[in-house]
Amino acid sequence: MYTTLKEVTRKAEELNYTVGAFNAHNLEMLPDMIRAAKEQGSSIIIQTSVDTAKYIGHENLVAVCKSMATKEMVDVALHLDHAKNFDDIKEAIDKGYTSVMFDGSSLPFKENIIKTSIVVKYAHKFGVSVEGELGTIGGTEEGIHVDEDKKVYTDPKDAIVFVEATGVDALAVAIGTNHGQYKSKTEVNVPLLKEIDAVVDVPLVIHGGTGVKETDIPELINNGIRKFNVGTELLVAWTKTAKETFGETKETKSLRHNIIPCNQAVKEIVKHKINIFMNKNE
Ligand SMILES: [Zn+2]
Repeated sequence: MYTTLKEVTRKAEELNYTVGAFNAHNLEMLPDMIRAAKEQGSSIIIQTSVDTAKYIGHENLVAVCKSMATKEMVDVALHLDHAKNFDDIKEAIDKGYTSVMFDGSSLPFKENIIKTSIVVKYAHKFGVSVEGELGTIGGTEEGIHVDEDKKVYTDPKDAIVFVEATGVDALAVAIGTNHGQYKSKTEVNVPLLKEIDAVVDVPLVIHGGTGVKETDIPELINNGIRKFNVGTELLVAWTKTAKETFGETKETKSLRHNIIPCNQAVKEIVKHKINIFMNKNE
């Protein structure tokens, strides 16, 4: 069914796995992402940036997620990733997204609390889940780069205050991951994650999941990560495959011959990640 982040992460908490939150970069790849979840017997969070939501159209994304969730009998949540202003959040909620992230991580602590609380108050009226963020995740997001020396790890004491004061349904933690990291892999600060997980009882979220070593993932799940974002890897796979297929075929060839392999490449990655996210060998 078409559902919320709160609901899918609640089930993940009960059975100690994590829900993959995969960025849809275009409408073409979306059905195969949901089919991948269906084939793995998992729920899925589809997320888009604010700009991708505007490019595809919120209503179109909602319609596809809803119809696929019903047809494939998969739990699908549609989430707005890294929104920094209230109007974008309001638009997504009003048009049918079931989950939003308010990213106030670059704001002073108190301002982050105040603004996140306003989002929570609005979203919860409509049964929509909210993810907040504390600390700064490195790398580049929507063209904005965070330098290595500007990265601030999440402080567990701040996390307690933030979660209680805002009422968020999930918390993105800064424990060393980077957005857009693809070729290299990061060293995740697991001791810090354990500290945060011990004092905060909402689901925790990993951003920059492409840069996390797959062998580290079970330990992150066992320490409270219930939403695991993967975006860059899908983008790279789709683009690489598109370069190959479009480079090889004539202009008169039906487009599907070029695009099906791109969607298939994305589907394989989603299936592979979900297989790890299910944490079967815990
Ligand atoms: Zn992120």
